[in-house]
Amino acid sequence: MKREVDSLRNQRFDLLILGGGITGAGVALDATLRGFRTALIDKGDFASGTSSVSSKLVHGGLRYLEHGGFHLVYEALHERRLLLKNAFPYVRPLRFVIPFYRRSRMPAWKARAGLVLYDVLAGSSNLRRSRPLSTEMLRQEFPGIQDDQLLGGAEYYDAQMDDARLCLSVVRTAALQGARVANYVQAIAFQKREGKVVSVRARDQVTGAEFEIRARQVLNATGPWTDEVARLAGDTAEPLLQPTKGVHLIVSRKDLNGALLLLHPVDGRVFFVIPWMEKTLIGTTDTITEESPDSLSVTPAEIDYLLEGYNGYFQTALKSSEVLGTFAGLRPLMRSGSGKPSSLSREYRIMKSLSGLISVAGGKYTTYRRMAEVITDTISRRLGRRGPCRTRSFLLDGALPNPQSVAEVVRLRSSVRSLTTSATSVSREMECLRQSCPLLDERDARHLVLRYGWRVRDVIEYLRSDSEGLTPIIPGEPDLRGEWAYQCDHEMAIDPADFWLRRTRLGLFHPEIIGTRI
Ligand SMILES: Cc1cc2nc3c(=O)[nH]c(=O)nc-3n(C[C@H](O)[C@H](O)[C@H](O)COP(=O)(O)OP(=O)(O)OC[C@H]3O[C@@H](n4cnc5c(N)ncnc54)[C@H](O)[C@@H]3O)c2cc1C
Repeated sequence: MKREVDSLRNQRFDLLILGGGITGAGVALDATLRGFRTALIDKGDFASGTSSVSSKLVHGGLRYLEHGGFHLVYEALHERRLLLKNAFPYVRPLRFVIPFYRRSRMPAWKARAGLVLYDVLAGSSNLRRSRPLSTEMLRQEFPGIQDDQLLGGAEYYDAQMDDARLCLSVVRTAALQGARVANYVQAIAFQKREGKVVSVRARDQVTGAEFEIRARQVLNATGPWTDEVARLAGDTAEPLLQPTKGVHLIVSRKDLNGALLLLHPVDGRVFFVIPWMEKTLIGTTDTITEESPDSLSVTPAEIDYLLEGYNGYFQTALKSSEVLGTFAGLRPLMRSGSGKPSSLSREYRIMKSLSGLISVAGGKYTTYRRMAEVITDTISRRLGRRGPCRTRSFLLDGALPNPQSVAEVVRLRSSVRSLTTSATSVSREMECLRQSCPLLDERDARHLVLRYGWRVRDVIEYLRSDSEGLTPIIPGEPDLRGEWAYQCDHEMAIDPADFWLRRTRLGLFHPEIIGTRI
């Protein structure tokens, strides 16, 4: 995948997409597969907005049931199944546990009823039926869990991803199918004829060059920047968005047999403790904010709030000095009458302005494919050309065949670890990898296969061609030095932050390395 800046200047496209987060990437793939000449640009790196700072869950969203969001949950559970099929191993099942306490704002019977409904809504897409857990099992599986007034709990299954890399793989798949894509190209102005947008003036942030990109249709998929970009196009309508801020903490790996869904002891909000990339994520907050998406920072009060949440459930208190890193993002939620952030709708809306610009607001990562399908349907009608959507069964580049068909997963009676990595296609790929490169240990091989899927066969050449290719970048972490060159050559990594924050995630928990080069 190469930056296609020259093609952007020289062609007239059917569709130009502004914003290479998951929304723009999803539309780029869908539209390209339907035969539209499609271009995709992002003012920074792909996924450098919200799409790299989510909770990394591909989930129905159990908590939305509390607000009656049955349709959203149903749709998300079915999209989860498609992603497990089309994007494995980038998307993998994850076990969740909810402990029940006597003092909780949510009585155990209500949580159990919610889980039954979740199972029913998932229908044949269910990964495994939820089931009760005894107090003893919780103590064993989550050592140190607060057991005063513990009444037992329940487990259920959802899925997990590496958000930035999943977005990147959607962009790459679109590019391989013919989309022209470039990161670090910013839309800075709109050109109109008779009041209608006919082209976008863009600036290449790498060279400083400015040029026109002509397109029959322009889509504003800029997430938290949606209102700003609509104003740039001269749209004077009311703002579409009411962003809320979400913060996560990263701490060292805790001995957790799955993720925990917990209620914050202070305000009763849902938050998660999630095993991720050999570390533990704690998050998230959800507060209405006017902060700019370009300059988000994490405050000590936000860190304290999340630590207080965690410490309410574990006997050994976690201190702020143990926080390895933090990250924050803005949910590009639709503006609505509701004042409470957690009840702001996760639905999305497609807006067509008088200038012809189409903007999209809202949504969630899990449902990006469906959202892209509906947006592309709208664009097809505008362009007067129809073709069927193909993304329901289109494997992302590098994806391995998922042996964990829903039926197989249901049959599996194994721990979360074997559910996520014992899948035969992953083990097969790991075996081939270790045969071609015997110096790789099992942990490295698993890390590489889970990160690159079958594309690991290309990565291995880079690891072998450099005498230090197989050396860990940071002792103790699985990321290898040879990955840098591969990511520069094939994944459009330009700035060191692209490598540290999105293609690997090392910068999130080793913030001191951001800005350095290998
Ligand atoms: C804390 C948090 C946790 C979340 N957790 C989950 C979760 O676990 N599961 C889930 O399903 N969803 C989750 N979400 C929601 C999900 O992450 C978002 O809905 C999704 O990532 C939004 O993607 P997007 O492409 O619309 O926006 P973004 O990812 O922000 O992409 C917009 C892009 O537009 C680009 N851009 C801006 N201006 C311009 C311009 N002028 N020219 C060109 N490009 C431009 C930006 O650089 C950016 O890359 C979470 C969100 C947050 C904030």
